[in-house]
Amino acid sequence: MRALVVVTWTLLGLALAGCGRRAPTRAPQARQVRLSPHLVLRGAVIAGARPSAATAPGAAPSLGPSDVELHDGRIVAIAPAGTLAPPGAAIRDLSGRWLAPAFIDSHVHLAILPEVMTGELADRGVAAAVDLGAPLPYLDHHPGTPRLIVSGPMITAPAGYPVNSWGEDGYGLECGSTAEAIASVNRLADHGADLIKLPLTEPPTLPDATIAAVVTQAHARKLRVAVHALSDPDAARGAAAGADLLAHTPVQPLADATVAAWRARTVITTLGAFGGTAATVDNLRRLRAAGATILYGTDLGNTQTAGIDPNELALLQQAGLDGAAILAAGTRTPAAYWGLGDLGQLAPGKAASLLVLDADPVLDPLTLARPVQVYLDGALR
Ligand SMILES: [Zn+2]
Repeated sequence: MRALVVVTWTLLGLALAGCGRRAPTRAPQARQVRLSPHLVLRGAVIAGARPSAATAPGAAPSLGPSDVELHDGRIVAIAPAGTLAPPGAAIRDLSGRWLAPAFIDSHVHLAILPEVMTGELADRGVAAAVDLGAPLPYLDHHPGTPRLIVSGPMITAPAGYPVNSWGEDGYGLECGSTAEAIASVNRLADHGADLIKLPLTEPPTLPDATIAAVVTQAHARKLRVAVHALSDPDAARGAAAGADLLAHTPVQPLADATVAAWRARTVITTLGAFGGTAATVDNLRRLRAAGATILYGTDLGNTQTAGIDPNELALLQQAGLDGAAILAAGTRTPAAYWGLGDLGQLAPGKAASLLVLDADPVLDPLTLARPVQVYLDGALR
């Protein structure tokens, strides 16, 4: 990843130095978000809601083709197709389509992207994202859509990752002592950080005692700790310190003991960010088989697909996730994990944040990467 990150950062730096900003993939323009205060989506099948061999345990019972009523940004009713006709509501016929909850990407870096790509992320179906590394001011000023869970800068050693490579402009807080590291946790918490990001990758890294103190202080402030750990020893170190989640699936083969140490914790996939090697894919398969919670994540910013990433979806299939499992890793599971209780499911009372799809994602998960329409909080993007 580091090579790719350095290349990306260098290109961005050159662009910033040369002409003010890297050319976006699409010209910035005034956003034409159409509000749909009261609407019935008629006749689509709600993905994952039908019992089948592929459906994950706990999925909702079958509803068949359904009407979904949206009002003031919420889902207010779901009923069999053709039965909802509330006064004043517009009807949109979606017969032959599927609906799925909008996605949650649990690993992004939006601060290093042109702003237009943040809008594209939302337009292409991501309702919420977890930003795992941004300068401190980003905690105070960041976009409202997609909704963001933010770590702010990583807590690291002097001249440690990422300030020694791609993140020299505020992406790390360099701590020379345990006391400084604890103070940094407090500073981030006071700025509204939602979690702490701790790199355990190439040296220099913080010593074990400091890492353990960071985790203890983060937990005292009700913040989880995500570790950037790509090797077996680093992943084992993170587990021993009490970290809560792996920011990436490690790329070097994990020992059985390390997989076991993470079995009751959480891993963010990011398989594509490191080239989707066989070792990475196998690590995810083993972590999942051991019982780890799996959250879909791309490392957008270091990867470049602003939306639901077809490469990541295909790699998740390689790691043994079927359509229902992929859907869960991008919707229901992260919504519960990150406390985004109104996302992740299509049900009355939930946010009207959903994807209109041209195929059943339980059978063809790659359809998630090409939504026909996207609604976020009731607004057609
Ligand atoms: Zn990252």
